[in-house]
Amino acid sequence: MPSIFLIGFMAAGKSKVAKALSQQLIMPYVDLDTLIEKDAGQSVAQIFASEGEAGFRHRESQALRSVIAGRDSMVATGGGTACIGDNLQEMCDAGVVVHLATSLATALERAAGSSIARPLLAQSASQIESLYRDRASVYRRAPISVSTEGRSPEEVASAIRAAMDSAASLPDTKHARAAVVALGERSYPIVVEQGCLPAIGPALVARLPSVKRVAIVSDDNVFPLYGKTVKESLEGAGLDVIHATVPPGEASKEIQTYANLCESLIAGGLDRSSAIVALGGGVVGDLAGFVAASLYRGMPVVQVPTTLLAMTDSAIGGKTGINTKQGKNLIGAFWQPSLVWADTNTLTTLSPRERRAAFGELVKYALLDGELWDLVERVAPKVCGQDLKPDSDLSNLVRACATLKAGIVSADEREGGVRAVLNLGHTLAHAIEVHAGYGTLLHGEAVALGLLGTCRVSYRLGLCDQGLESEVEGVLRTAGLDTDLKPWLKAEVLDHMGVDKKRTGSKLRFIAVHNLGDVRQRDIELIELTGLLLTD
Ligand code: NAD
Repeated sequence: MPSIFLIGFMAAGKSKVAKALSQQLIMPYVDLDTLIEKDAGQSVAQIFASEGEAGFRHRESQALRSVIAGRDSMVATGGGTACIGDNLQEMCDAGVVVHLATSLATALERAAGSSIARPLLAQSASQIESLYRDRASVYRRAPISVSTEGRSPEEVASAIRAAMDSAASLPDTKHARAAVVALGERSYPIVVEQGCLPAIGPALVARLPSVKRVAIVSDDNVFPLYGKTVKESLEGAGLDVIHATVPPGEASKEIQTYANLCESLIAGGLDRSSAIVALGGGVVGDLAGFVAASLYRGMPVVQVPTTLLAMTDSAIGGKTGINTKQGKNLIGAFWQPSLVWADTNTLTTLSPRERRAAFGELVKYALLDGELWDLVERVAPKVCGQDLKPDSDLSNLVRACATLKAGIVSADEREGGVRAVLNLGHTLAHAIEVHAGYGTLLHGEAVALGLLGTCRVSYRLGLCDQGLESEVEGVLRTAGLDTDLKPWLKAEVLDHMGVDKKRTGSKLRFIAVHNLGDVRQRDIELIELTGLLLTD
């Protein structure tokens, strides 16, 4: 068992959970602060007083390095450890890093009731809040994120074990450090790798050992390109394989196609002990995911996304569904996959327009997590040209976005809270899509415009700098996306914002941008939002 490093804000529960986990896993337990205090012969508060924060951080990094050099351990780090220099990378290279997530309110409440002296608590409330936000952007890089809210240390320890086991069950040991959607026994890993498609068979068998028969569900564009590779790999792993395809495009996310698909899979001999492999973009993922959620009252599904949007967004998080005449995704279910397996080489055959459109969502991720901004800027020109040569930057970007989404879903599976930030830019984007007529603009193209509108509204509300909109516009342009918002800022377009699913009465739940990496929910009157967008 490699070392496990617990990171997270002060009072997230790192020491207590590390102790519980070290008992469950029979691993040596190290508390970094205790180690530093022992070496220095002083308490953390005394080191802060005599050497300042810089002196303490230096000692902390040295202590971390000595732990990494020693035997594999269960390590409770300090709240700032992961945020200094290369500490986080060194922990990721040495073992599995787990973020213990907690709200600021809970952390402060716990800290107030604890006897541990925490020098950073001497700051003002606004300084502590900004520290919390800054550190959160680092903690988000952890491949596993587990909430400690309302859970005992033993429960959190069990949740961490379930998450780690889901990745450790994969045949290739390097995947033990893959990002995981941590949902207890329903946890699942997300593997993003250039050239991993031919290894899907053994991976599926490892995750679903009792499955004997598999149906590949794909579309008529994707199956001819990748169906053979997937089928051969699954058969090579000893599985019986059938397949079914649907016509490409959004029109297949509808009830008759769904019914036909269910019937063809039943006729093909799929039973309760079988699994579905969804091979394709978001349309196939949503449709096949919904078939898996409902056929025989639910069967396992493995998502094999082949578009940039599906790899970074739709294949992760378990939202499945189909459209009706009245609107998108109105029939559906939350149904988490058992595995997400993304081969970035498949993006070479994706049309440039589809690749570009995905940048609407990728820029959204960069606004959610400012640390991603440089990578998004670097990848944009490479991915949006006629030919794509997948490289490590692309895989790193896909992996980082997938990790970010995994952390958000782990904290809020059913969109009761924090998951709503993923709707950044979407209120205006949906209005534009509806007005243009579904299919005229690709979803990501509309999201790009929605992000620009969101920056403008956020500026006019006094929440962010005026320059943010130009920065966002610049990177969207580099990605080859249309950034001309003007034609869409008309009452007849904005009226469609009133039918947003996130509306309550005359108010909308709006996700505002305060800065790169700092987005916050607020309720806003529809009339005010429309007014702010229409103002010249
Ligand atoms: P898509 O699935 O329609 O794929 C786009 C096109 O690319 C299709 O023609 C497809 O056949 C083709 N294609 C896919 N992979 C290819 C490849 N590797 N090479 C060549 N062609 C390829 O579109 P999408 O953008 O992936 O997904 C859009 C759908 O995702 C929408 O229905 C949207 O509602 C849904 N969505 C779902 C979620 C979620 O959380 N479930 C999130 C966002 C979007």
